[in-house]
Amino acid sequence: MRIETLSVFPEVFAPYMDASMMGRAQKKDLLDFESYDLRDWTHDRHRTVDDAPFGGGQGMLMKPEPIFEAVRDIASRQEGRPHVIFFSPCGKRFDEDVARRLSHEDRILFVCGHYEGMDERCYKLADETLSIGDYVLTGGELAAMVVTDAVVRLIPGVLGDEASAEDESFAGNLLEYEQYTRPAIFEGMAVPDVLLSGDHGAVDAWRRANQIERTARWRPDLLAAANLTAEERARLEDGGEWYE
Ligand code: SAH
Repeated sequence: MRIETLSVFPEVFAPYMDASMMGRAQKKDLLDFESYDLRDWTHDRHRTVDDAPFGGGQGMLMKPEPIFEAVRDIASRQEGRPHVIFFSPCGKRFDEDVARRLSHEDRILFVCGHYEGMDERCYKLADETLSIGDYVLTGGELAAMVVTDAVVRLIPGVLGDEASAEDESFAGNLLEYEQYTRPAIFEGMAVPDVLLSGDHGAVDAWRRANQIERTARWRPDLLAAANLTAEERARLEDGGEWYE
């Protein structure tokens, strides 16, 4: 997959993108990442990318000309038009379903805003506009890295173990089950006995129950769309006990 970003702070991506799993994805040629500087598509001495809003108000807005020119130029540099994603707190909320959908794209271009945001006409260039949550950031660079990370780890071969993206939180609209490692007792806190039993059937049943119980406790909003059997749903509605 090729991922490109367009922003006024192209230098902030490298420390994250070159480390750990993102770095590994690039070394394994599963990810081809490039960050562009929006100012390269300005034509004045000051390399101006912003201007005051019509109608008054605080702060500066990103002006349309460099953004239109840059997006068109970047798109034409390579075969295959990129899927163009803009960021805004007004966008569609990014989640694991969107990450899965985007993991099938060949080429994505993220356009990151800054200052008070962008001239509204810029969004005409977007195939979609995403928000990473109900809060306001100073720029879209972190949003681009959040989405990139969540998408790239779903590309086959990026995570060491293919199974590991499958039974994680949000798969089937359930949270992940609790996990433990050695020591079996730490500061008086014991790992659930069943996990030490060596009985794989019992472990699977405990994990399934634990996922449902945790989701009901921490994220009840997910349950309506969760992948539950009729029996599990009935037990949930009874407020039933999950562990025999
Ligand atoms: N004035 C705008 C906020 C602009 S914040 C408003 O009130 O809606 C500047 C830039 O940061 C945005 O253009 C966007 O690219 C990015 N940004 C801010 N919050 C974000 C969020 N929750 N999700 C994704 N991007 C965000």
